[in-house]
Amino acid sequence: MSFKGKTAIVTGAGRGIGRAICARLSALGANVVINYAGNDAEAEKTRALCESAATVKADVSDEAECKRLFSICEERFGAADILINNAGITKDGLIMRMSEADFERVLDVNLKGAFNCVKLAARPMMKARYGRIVNIASVVAMSGNVGQANYVASKAGLIGLTKASALELASRGITVNAVAPGFIETDMTASLSEDVKAGMLTRVPLGYFGKPDDVAEAVAFLCSDGAGYITGQVIGVNGGMYV
Ligand code: NAP
Repeated sequence: MSFKGKTAIVTGAGRGIGRAICARLSALGANVVINYAGNDAEAEKTRALCESAATVKADVSDEAECKRLFSICEERFGAADILINNAGITKDGLIMRMSEADFERVLDVNLKGAFNCVKLAARPMMKARYGRIVNIASVVAMSGNVGQANYVASKAGLIGLTKASALELASRGITVNAVAPGFIETDMTASLSEDVKAGMLTRVPLGYFGKPDDVAEAVAFLCSDGAGYITGQVIGVNGGMYV
C-alpha cells in the first residue's frame, strides 16, 4: 500500500483512533490534515507522528467551519483524495432522562458532521474521478446499546449515509465505506467503570479489547487501490463482538 502524493483529511484526529489513522496514512506516504475540536496539545502530538501534516481546529457540526477545514487543506496540499469521518462524541443516558440538547448534539457531531464533510469532499473527488471516504461507525449501530440512544442512532444513521453516498458517488470512481469498531482502548472508553469494562470483555470472543491501530489498519486497507471494488460496505473491527 502506498498513499504517496495523496492527501487525507481525518476528522477528530487529535487523539485516539483518529491519531492512529493519521499515523498509519502518513507512514504510507499521505499528506494528512488533522482536524480536532479544542485540545491543541493532543493535536500537536498527532502532528509530531506524521511527516507531512497540518492541524486544523474546527467543529465538524458547523458547515462554515468545515468549509474552512477544506480550504486550508486545498491551500496547503491540494484537494483531499481521502476523507475519514472519525469525529465522534458520546453523551450517554437513558432515554427517559436524555435531554433534547444531548440527543441533538451527538447527532450533529457524529452524523451531520460527516454529511458536511462528504458534501465538501465530493465535488473535487468527482472532478478527479477518484476518492476514498471511510466513516467510523460503531458495533452498537447494529447491536444497539442501553443508555446510548443518541449515539446508536447517530452511528446507524452514519451507516445509512455511507450506503447512500456510496451509490451516489460510485460512477465517479469514489468508494464510501464504514468501519464499525467494537471496544477500542481510547479516552472515550477510559472513563467507563471497571465493572462495565469487565462486562464488555465477556462479550469479546477474542478475549481482549482493540487498539486504535487495529482500526487504522482496516481504514488504510479501504483507502488502498486493492480495495477499489469495495463500496457501501461496513467492516467490523470488534474481536468478534458482533458477527
Ligand atoms: P476520543 O478519544 O474521544 O477522540 C475524539 C476526537 O474527536 C478528539 O480528537 C476530539 O477533539 C474530536 N472531536 C470531538 N468533537 C468534535 C467536533 N465537533 N469536531 C471535530 N472534532 C471533534 O474518541 P475515539 O475513541 O478515538 O473515537 C473515534 C471515533 O471512533 C468516534 O467516532 C467514535 O464514536 C468511534 N468509536 C470508538 C470506539 C471506542 O471504543 N473507542 C468504538 C466504536 C466507535 P479534541 O481532542 O480536540 O477534543
